[in-house]
Amino acid sequence: MAIRNIIKEGDPFLNKVCHPVEKFDDKLATLLDDMAETMGEADGVGLAAPQVGILRRAVVIDIGEGPIELINPVFLEQSGEQECVEGCLSSPGQYGVTKRPMHVKIRAQNRKGEFFELEGEALMATVCCHEIDHLDGILFKSHVIHMLDEEELEQLK
Ligand code: ZN
Repeated sequence: MAIRNIIKEGDPFLNKVCHPVEKFDDKLATLLDDMAETMGEADGVGLAAPQVGILRRAVVIDIGEGPIELINPVFLEQSGEQECVEGCLSSPGQYGVTKRPMHVKIRAQNRKGEFFELEGEALMATVCCHEIDHLDGILFKSHVIHMLDEEELEQLK
């Protein structure tokens, strides 16, 4: 496994739409392993392939309940609403209040190409939305109602 460089906001690469994953091979497994390690090292809860320079529809998530890999994820359901405080490994030190669905249901593939469904509530729903947005070139700031100022950031710590 290896730590990969995380692309930062402002790089036009992050605004590109990713292609579906078609080959479920060793290269994909290596990418996913590297993404998990990179996310852990950066103390993040989610990382999308475009953030490490790969324009493919692959995401890793770990909100403290174990790692989840979503390949070619699609939403089946989105319901409810919540306000979240969100950040992004591509925008270090910046956080904003966003509105996201409270509940999501997703269909995706695992690293072997097998389909599965995942339901997420609260933080899990937020992270899923945030990461899947990355695959369509959308950053969390397009959902932000209010960016936190220095005083509010201090209270977050
Ligand atoms: Zn992000």
